[in-house]
Amino acid sequence: MNIYVSRSLQTFRGAIIYNFSYSSLIIPSLNKTILLNKFTVAKPRLISSLCNISCSLTFDLIRRFDYKYRYRFYTINKTKIAIEPNEWLTLSFYSFNLNVQLSLEKLRENMLNKLEEMGLVGRIYIATEGINAQVSCPKEKIVDLRKYCDDELNLKGTEFNFSTYHVKAFRKLHVKIKKQIVADRLESGSYDLSKQPVYLTPEEWHEALSNSKELSILIDMRNQYESEVGYFVNSIRPDVDTFRDSIKAMNEICEGKQNEKIYMYCTGGIRCSKAGAILLSNGFKSVYMLKGGITAYGRFVLENPSITSLYKGRNFTFDKRLGEPITNDVVSQCHTCGKPCGTHTNCRNKTCNLLFIQCEECKTRLKRTCGTDFCFQLVHTWDEKYGRSSTFDDVKPGLECVYDHIHRTRPRLVIKRLGGTTANISTDIIPDIIKQKDKQTKE
Ligand SMILES: [Zn+2]
Ligand SMILES: [Zn+2]
Repeated sequence: MNIYVSRSLQTFRGAIIYNFSYSSLIIPSLNKTILLNKFTVAKPRLISSLCNISCSLTFDLIRRFDYKYRYRFYTINKTKIAIEPNEWLTLSFYSFNLNVQLSLEKLRENMLNKLEEMGLVGRIYIATEGINAQVSCPKEKIVDLRKYCDDELNLKGTEFNFSTYHVKAFRKLHVKIKKQIVADRLESGSYDLSKQPVYLTPEEWHEALSNSKELSILIDMRNQYESEVGYFVNSIRPDVDTFRDSIKAMNEICEGKQNEKIYMYCTGGIRCSKAGAILLSNGFKSVYMLKGGITAYGRFVLENPSITSLYKGRNFTFDKRLGEPITNDVVSQCHTCGKPCGTHTNCRNKTCNLLFIQCEECKTRLKRTCGTDFCFQLVHTWDEKYGRSSTFDDVKPGLECVYDHIHRTRPRLVIKRLGGTTANISTDIIPDIIKQKDKQTKE
């Protein structure tokens, strides 16, 4: 017996699903209690009438307060219940050959319908140049996903690039139509995408990198905040924030080296497929890339415990996990106190949302904020008001964003703006309120 609460607005039938959090659905006839998340809670009367069973809902009263005035509209399909799957597989795939008859709009609609039905969550970009997907799939649906990709998207040769760390890494499914699946902003026709670099399997890559005579130039094609927490030893890691700037940096690094061997890597391979084509279109002879990127190398390391990983630290990912560990090495520092720390976090003030590295100690001290007076005061007031000082729930006060995009991925710029230097940031960005408290305890 299943009830299914779909998230598709296209088949809206007027059901009101309240956005209450962490509630349970009790079905006495089945002697069953089902925990629902906040996106699948419906009015009990409605479920009863549509599914022809008697049931009741219980709400977590504390949470109810938070969500009292918010609600969403969803649809109910009479046959299944959306029960959160226990096991997920997190994977990515991409192809520069998206050979389908449908227009991008129709394809998007088709994908949303079919993939939501499977319970897939994640981010999929489609463009005339191809498809790029990062998703979490319920484990029991992985065969269906493969079949859908093969039959309806014509992606038979495209491998699923499985992560080594499987969780539900996204909240819902987004399918976006883009100009390009990897934004290079270069003029169309300025390079030939069919000129592909040599794809080295993780094993071949490991071999090539181990043989230092073989290696001439090794470039990390990711952004600075990605390579900050993990990288291949001896790689050149450009200080950039976008793929477009990566390309510029790559061209500078490789200038005049058309006859040398160029090795490049990125998270899953897609950026190198493009960057490699750009080099090869500009007269470079030998360009090699890591097939499946760091994700695939991570699997290789896990499956071969006897080898020493040439990658140190974490593989940053653009999802809830903010990365998966490849080795236990910590290669980066807490942006607040400078102690070794390898994990990113987002500022708890969602209007700031700064992506930065913060150790557990600083997280507790600064209530998981970036540490600016503005953010700290805001969550402090929020915690006092709602008595949640011990939790680290996100705070969404509905204010304007205080930083632009660059500031959000470049914490050092914020520190600079606060007049601090990297040498004394730990004291300079401590909010006044903490300084006062410290003073009081001393007295
Ligand atoms: Zn710290
Ligand atoms: Zn902040």
